[in-house]
Amino acid sequence: MTFKLGIVVGHTDAAGGAVGLNLPREYDYHKSVASDMLAFAQSEFSHGGQIALEVRVFFRDGIGVSGAYKQVNNWVGTDASRAATIELHYNAATPAASGTETLSSGSARSLELSKRVHSGLCSLLGRSGQSRGIKVRNRTHKERGWLSLVSGRPPAIITEPAFGSNPSDAALLKEKKFLIGREIIRRSKLYFDEIVGG
Ligand SMILES: [Zn+2]
Repeated sequence: MTFKLGIVVGHTDAAGGAVGLNLPREYDYHKSVASDMLAFAQSEFSHGGQIALEVRVFFRDGIGVSGAYKQVNNWVGTDASRAATIELHYNAATPAASGTETLSSGSARSLELSKRVHSGLCSLLGRSGQSRGIKVRNRTHKERGWLSLVSGRPPAIITEPAFGSNPSDAALLKEKKFLIGREIIRRSKLYFDEIVGG
């Protein structure tokens, strides 16, 4: 059976999110990352007409966060357990702030997915000590990103591999742009295999 991974591109064309150092706006950056992730999943996880991991890209343009996750719910149908969503962002703050952060709704499966994606991104980006860690956002902890994490039925996470506002992090985002997306795909597949199974 096929696992379904929805990739939600953070922000919109009208309000494109942070603008990193020598980087496109979050929205534009992740639009191209998402399309590479889709192609990568097709080449890596589809064999002889068998699709092990089906990826679809969703946008918030014109429909907002709730509209995008409504589309995810429609795509997934009644069985959300064989699906997951990952919303793509990069971080921004003062120039000194750096590191990798992953946001989770705090549900058991969102945490399992977070763990795998987060550790993959930390090793890809050469982070030590699991960097800034996994942070829980939900109806109780209504900080940045919470709505995206609770709006759909499948387990959801948000990735923030690095800070676009920090010079060395911004360079990582530039150099490893597509490797980051591919690592997210690989680690998601691992989550499906290990936690969801057969
Ligand atoms: Zn963002």
